[in-house]
Amino acid sequence: MDSLTETPDYDVIIIGAGPAGMTAALYAGRSMLRAVVLERGISGGELLNTEIIEDYPGFEHIKGWDLAQRFESHAKKFGAEFVQDTVLTLEKLEDGNFLATAESGATYRAATAIITSGGTPIKLGVPGELEYAGKGVSYCAICDGAFFKDQVIAVIGGGDAAVEEADFLTRYGAKVYLVHRRDELRASKILQKRLIENPKAELIWNKVVDRIEGDDKGLVRKVMLRDVNTHEISTLEATGVFIFVGFRPNTGIITGHVDHDEMGYLRTDMNMETSIPGLFAAGDVRAQLTRQVTTAAGDATTAAIAVEKYLTSLRSGAAIPVIVGTGGYSA
Ligand code: NAP
Repeated sequence: MDSLTETPDYDVIIIGAGPAGMTAALYAGRSMLRAVVLERGISGGELLNTEIIEDYPGFEHIKGWDLAQRFESHAKKFGAEFVQDTVLTLEKLEDGNFLATAESGATYRAATAIITSGGTPIKLGVPGELEYAGKGVSYCAICDGAFFKDQVIAVIGGGDAAVEEADFLTRYGAKVYLVHRRDELRASKILQKRLIENPKAELIWNKVVDRIEGDDKGLVRKVMLRDVNTHEISTLEATGVFIFVGFRPNTGIITGHVDHDEMGYLRTDMNMETSIPGLFAAGDVRAQLTRQVTTAAGDATTAAIAVEKYLTSLRSGAAIPVIVGTGGYSA
């Protein structure tokens, strides 16, 4: 078991201020722990990319932005400190403490850390994608949808994000095409139904993006699609291309080996503890069945309470309690 030889700045460093990070901060505060939340942007995480939330209990209909604000003020009420800074590395020191080094040059030390850093949109990796990013290519409907009023929009992907955002984008676009690489959507049935019944939406099956082309002003004009069966190339005239083909977990800051699944999501035990003792994970960065605001909040609750128990055991010199169950990571 680790023994601390130096007093750290905090009891827990929380990396990321999405629903998981802010819930962890709330519970850490309620346990009277000294918690710092490090976030590179505005608090909210994926809530900021979701216009309306309809599946957070107690809120039948709330804007993602508004829910994010509520999460933050609630966490602050219990004493959490929020710092806007980009964490570059998180390492476990020989003395047992964690050290987070941020872009500003600031460092943060704590006996424990909870990583709630979420994920980054996966890129298609096709010609034109990066060239036209911000000039027609987007990964955030709520941020950029209004720029495409009365225009033709192509949405790429077949999961919950693509289907939900395609439906949302019909508020702005004259027409929204959902381009999917198979003939069956991965998205949940309720979201599929909503989109299929939307007269401004149309589905294009069995096609992938071959390349994105623009005009001499550097703006997107068309998406070249390739049929996955016939390999035929067709043209979709569109000025907006919204890409929702999944997320990659943001785990790159962790120094040293930490156990993860084949997609890179962090494996944890039932306490949300990773394979590095004292490092906990919650939210989209963690390997799990689904990634919802509710599961992020629930896992972060467990993580923060487990941190409190971990610290108590560490400081009393007792063995750290391990919850035995069917879940857990495989080393
Ligand atoms: P996802 O569920 O992993 O779906 C990614 C989609 O992109 C899949 O349909 C996949 O096709 C397609 N895709 C992947 N690579 C591609 C490529 N190179 N070219 C073309 N298509 C490609 O990701 P997500 O939709 O971002 O959702 C992530 C998680 O967040 C999920 O757990 C989801 O349930 C959750 N989420 C929930 C909600 C909600 O409940 N309201 C909203 C958003 C996200 P295949 O199907 O062929 O693999």
